[in-house]
Amino acid sequence: MSLLELRDLKVHFPQPSSWFGPKRCVKAVDGVSLAMQPGEIIGLVGESGCGKSTLGRAAVRLEVPTSGQVLIDGKDLYALSAAERRQLNGRYQMIFQDPYGSLNPRLTIFSALDEVLSMRKENFSAAERRSEAGKLLERVGLPADVLGRFPHQFSGGQRQRIGIARALAASPGFIVADEPVSALDVSVQAAIVNLLQDIRQQSGTAFLFIAHDLAVVEHISDRILVMYLGNVVESAAAKELVKTPLHPYTQALLSAVPSLHKNNSRIILKGDVPSPLDPPSGCPFHPRCPFAKEICKHQKPPLKNMGSRAVACFLQD
Ligand code: SF4
Repeated sequence: MSLLELRDLKVHFPQPSSWFGPKRCVKAVDGVSLAMQPGEIIGLVGESGCGKSTLGRAAVRLEVPTSGQVLIDGKDLYALSAAERRQLNGRYQMIFQDPYGSLNPRLTIFSALDEVLSMRKENFSAAERRSEAGKLLERVGLPADVLGRFPHQFSGGQRQRIGIARALAASPGFIVADEPVSALDVSVQAAIVNLLQDIRQQSGTAFLFIAHDLAVVEHISDRILVMYLGNVVESAAAKELVKTPLHPYTQALLSAVPSLHKNNSRIILKGDVPSPLDPPSGCPFHPRCPFAKEICKHQKPPLKNMGSRAVACFLQD
């Protein structure tokens, strides 16, 4: 049984329409399936607006799916009663891009951690919770004696470490990390990525790591899913995807990262990502694809399993 499983997940946002106009909706996530095992790090990559953050939020019950299922330990997250959900007891957590926004500025760091610790099954005493909070800070590389300080007294990187400590306070099976390093200085990014890898190593915590930077995703992930306009267009083991990208969109993303793509020239895509309110017919990538054929304008390629990887492109038929 997978730790987290998404089955044909769709998250559509209906849009206000005029009296006579057709009903419109943004198909932010349009039929994504994945299975995550304990301790696995899955990278989710794609340009801004491709639906990756919406997918991550739906996986932790922050966005109600239009259809499909989110299963945690085989249990349908959106079909559980409140009491059953409490039994999952912090099995899933989320880390946000803006750690400052996710921390209450009026709460001390201890109070922020204690909010989560006090919900744990162990029924810690007040002294035990303080000791546990100190250990959590040390685990993310901060001294335990800053528990009485407030979020504004820390740098961006330190606040992200506090956000990670807060997620770890729940002792989660998996964490959705939504662009956790993109707001940080480059020098701090590597330290946070290494910290997440250490946590996986030490605790077996799994991560759904969402980012637009393929170099960062490749560094941390076991497996990568590439999203485009609400769809997964390619998934493969991280090293395999970088070595032999099969989907033209993956090839274009990769060509923009010199550290990963040393031999070939940059593939410049035509135009911008189309509006998800008015997605193209057929293959959603066809207006920008250098290899588009007639069939691509009319038919959507299915995500085809090819052994250890999958790709949605007619070139692979
Ligand atoms: Fe390009 Fe066609 Fe493949 Fe889509 S299906 S990525 S348009 S070749």
